[in-house]
Parts: sequence; C-alpha cells; structure tokens
Amino acid sequence: MFGLNNQYPASFDEEYKTLEDYQGQVVRWCVGCGDNAILTAAQKLLREEQLPLEKCVFVSGIGCAARFPHYMGTYGFHGLHGRALPTAQGIKSRRSDLHVFVNMGDGDCCSIGTAHWIHAVHMNMDMVAMMHDNKIYGLTKKQTSPTTPMGYSTNTTPRGAYLKELNPLTVTLGITNVSFVAQVTEWLPEILLDVIRQAFHHKGFSFVRILQRCPHFTPDIFDSLLADPSKLLMLNHENGIQPSDAIKKVYKAQEMHDPSNLNRAREIAELDDQAHQVPIGILYKDESVPRYEQVIKPEREPSVERRQEVLENAFDNFGIFLNNTAAD
Ligand code: SF4
Ligand code: MG
Repeated sequence: MFGLNNQYPASFDEEYKTLEDYQGQVVRWCVGCGDNAILTAAQKLLREEQLPLEKCVFVSGIGCAARFPHYMGTYGFHGLHGRALPTAQGIKSRRSDLHVFVNMGDGDCCSIGTAHWIHAVHMNMDMVAMMHDNKIYGLTKKQTSPTTPMGYSTNTTPRGAYLKELNPLTVTLGITNVSFVAQVTEWLPEILLDVIRQAFHHKGFSFVRILQRCPHFTPDIFDSLLADPSKLLMLNHENGIQPSDAIKKVYKAQEMHDPSNLNRAREIAELDDQAHQVPIGILYKDESVPRYEQVIKPEREPSVERRQEVLENAFDNFGIFLNNTAAD
C-alpha cells in the first residue's frame, strides 16, 4: 500500500480500545459544565487501564451529575435520588469482579443520600465514589444544597443560605473504617485524572470530592479560587499526588503530606472552614482497612447438597407466591 514501508510492517492491536469505545450517548450538559471534564477523566482512566466495557458499571442517583452513566459506553444504572451508593453496593456484593464507579452530586450525597454515604464509608466496599460538588442543586434549578456557601443567594434562599456549609471532607474522615479521601478540582485535569486513577487502584471505598463549576447556576462560586492560586493547597507526597513543575509554578502553596497520617488529614480537611484554603490531593489512604466483601465472604463454598436445598426452598416459596398471586 502507498506510504507503507515493508521493512517496518505496521502492527495494530485489534483489541486495543480507544477513547471512543468508552463513550456513550451524546453529552447534553450545558456548555462549559465541569461535569464534562470529569467524564473525560473517567473515560481516559478506562482507556489507560484498557478495562473491558462489560466489566465496568457506573451508578448514579438523580441530578445533572447523574446523567454520567448515559455518557459512558459501559454498563450503568441511573437510579433514584440519593440512592446511588446502596445500588452500587448491591452490584458489588453480587459481582465482586466488576469495577464499580459512583457519580453523585452534592445534594445526592450530602442531603438525600447522607445515611448511605456514612454506611458506604463504614462498609468500605471496593469502589470509586465521585462527588461532583457544584454547591447547588442544578437539575432542580438552583436550590440551596448542604454545601452551598453561607450567604449565597439561591432560589430557595434568595437572601442567602442561612447555614454554614457542610464540609464533606471532615465528615468522611470522621467515619469509622474510612480508607481513602481525596479532593480535586475539575479545572486541573492532570491532577483530576491522577487522583481518580489512584482511587481506582485503592482496594476499598474511595471517596473523591470534585469541585465542579456550574456556569449556568453558580458561575461565580469558584471565582476566588480561580483568581488566586494560593487558595489551593497542593498536598504533595510520593504516596499522593506529584504535580508537574508547570503546576507547581502556578500553585505555590504546597505541603508535603503523608496520606497515612489521619490526624493531619483531619486538620487539613478543616483548612477550608478556618483559613479558606482548599486542599488538593489525597488526604488519607489506608489499604489495611478490611473490606465488607472480605469480611462476609464464607470460608467455604456451600456444598452441592446445600445449594440444591436452597434452590428447592426457593422453588417452593415461588410456587406459594404464584398461587397467592393467582388467587388475587
Ligand atoms: Fe452543569 Fe450546571 Fe448545566 Fe447542570 S445546570 S449541566 S451542573 S452547568
Ligand atoms: Mg449539585
């Protein structure tokens, strides 16, 4: 063929999956929405890892972020508001071979799904939970969420949100069995991908809070962070993120933080409340925390007789159910 040198025959790996293979439906988020950057990072991760499409599941609740599974070329489940985590846990408990990802908004995770969030951290099942935090209910048109800054005007609190905003990092780091907590912004794609990659490789429940711009309803909410790079504190460490020189030149506020240090992680998590400095990177990581799927795994496989007994009972009960239904 013209242009090809026989001396160096081109060889293609036909199994290699490209970014397009991981793409799903046409994206319908607003132009400039930070969710687009998070989607790209997830697709890049899957391509980097060459994960089989049929082995990945993206689970969501309700909200703008919850459209995520539609835009992936993998399996997905667009669930109910606040219920992404129990759905994901159900999937993981039956199919531990699957790679499970969860996409929740701040309302999904910190309001409607709060109980599930706490128990998901406590149970420490192996999955990546991405919390898209635009500090507002976007899909339902600019209502105050638990992470909306105090004084910020919304459609439900036009004179400004009454309460000091909830800090998802301090909450997560206070839960028993916490094993991975990170924070990143979607406008630093290099660090976003790195953190999601490390969350994916962590064996346990990885909680990643992603500060996400919503140009439609909260266009100014991150203005101070974008205008003043010193407000972001880079948490550098060989077991955490290692920003490039280009990033270090702009983001000069840096701290060497060992992610195994829980006490310091909790102090860092409070920086945003106390000094309006936003930590970026991996706050905490501990692979020794037992995972729920390990703890509940039976020591021995059930015998063939036991399996037969369970099946027969199931058929008996099903028969009763059918009879009852027929009688209705
Ligand atoms: Fe994104 Fe906000 Fe538009 Fe929702 S309303 S798609 S969060 S920009
Ligand atoms: Mg939101």
